[in-house]
Amino acid sequence: MVRKITISILLILFLSFSVYSEEVIVKPGDTFITIFTKLFDYDKAISIYKDLKHRLPDFVLKAGQKITFDANYAHIPIDLTKEVKIFKKNDGYHIDIIEHDIWTINSVVSGTINGSLFETVSSLGESDELAILFADIYQWEVDFFKEVQPGDRFSIVVEKRFVKGVFAGYGRILAADFYNKGRTIRAIYYNNGKLSGYFTPDGKHLKKGFLRAPLKFGRVSSKFTSSRLHPVLGRPLPHFGVDYAAPTGTPIYATGSGIITQIGFQRGAGNFVKIKHQNNVLTTYMHMSKFRSGLKVGSRVSQGEVIGYVGSTGYSTGPHVDYRIQIGSKYVNPLTFVAPPVVIGKNEIVNLNNMSRKVVDLLNTGYNRTAMIKMVE
Ligand SMILES: [Zn+2]
Repeated sequence: MVRKITISILLILFLSFSVYSEEVIVKPGDTFITIFTKLFDYDKAISIYKDLKHRLPDFVLKAGQKITFDANYAHIPIDLTKEVKIFKKNDGYHIDIIEHDIWTINSVVSGTINGSLFETVSSLGESDELAILFADIYQWEVDFFKEVQPGDRFSIVVEKRFVKGVFAGYGRILAADFYNKGRTIRAIYYNNGKLSGYFTPDGKHLKKGFLRAPLKFGRVSSKFTSSRLHPVLGRPLPHFGVDYAAPTGTPIYATGSGIITQIGFQRGAGNFVKIKHQNNVLTTYMHMSKFRSGLKVGSRVSQGEVIGYVGSTGYSTGPHVDYRIQIGSKYVNPLTFVAPPVVIGKNEIVNLNNMSRKVVDLLNTGYNRTAMIKMVE
């Protein structure tokens, strides 16, 4: 009986509130004034808007945004951390801007690969975003398309953000372990003001100097060799590059950051780009159909930036990119070339390990829970 009455009261309360409550979805072309003249007269709506812009200069109503109107106030959610309430008063109005704190919690996510990394991460109730953050850290060590096996294990300490107790996204991965191909690679985030990124506990930067290939996908159609029969010239010639066959128009990426020293056309190379990198390393990309617009000698390019597109210009029998690496004037084999890793100094290594102690403890907790894994590095 008591329960029945309670339910009835709740129902009445609910109904009486819902009568006065209305949700408005901002449509393209709506303005603050057209929407707020629902609750206020025209002049008031204008002064409310001015007040609001004064206190929240970035404030704009976006199409699709929801505004809730009650008998005497309007509620505008701005983003995860901010909301605005506008109250109707006898003689005017009152604006409340409510800001919520973001709570960051360092949390451990551990798992054993079953299917793809994405499937595994999502089976743990986490989002793809975490798999992407994780794969980004290890991209220099592991080819996630080919080298990930069922049974590989990972443990991640990641910042999770919460607003009003609700998960609101990941921050940074602070440390991680990845057990793959019989070895465990530990990555710790470190920032010394000049250099930031992920390092092994013994101070090696996980980010290697160069991408493995100038294309995301492509087939090696000709390897580096000191003598082969040239397909166009018909006589034996050394091939100082690796050819990657790919459809015309496939983007070609700078494999390392550097400065363009040559860009143009040559009879043999066709449209080509040459980039000078740190430590006297040069990379060359040949036979392009076209360059990315805006590039010229002296342009600075970042690793992974598109510099041009696959083509078949110059001495070429089909669309491909001939990719070459030189150290000084000597050509080296791009398929085996390993850029020396950046290693921080001894004091820095001590710093890195001191600063990351708590995070690593947390990482070990998740790690022990999964399995005992032999540490290789
Ligand atoms: Zn070639």
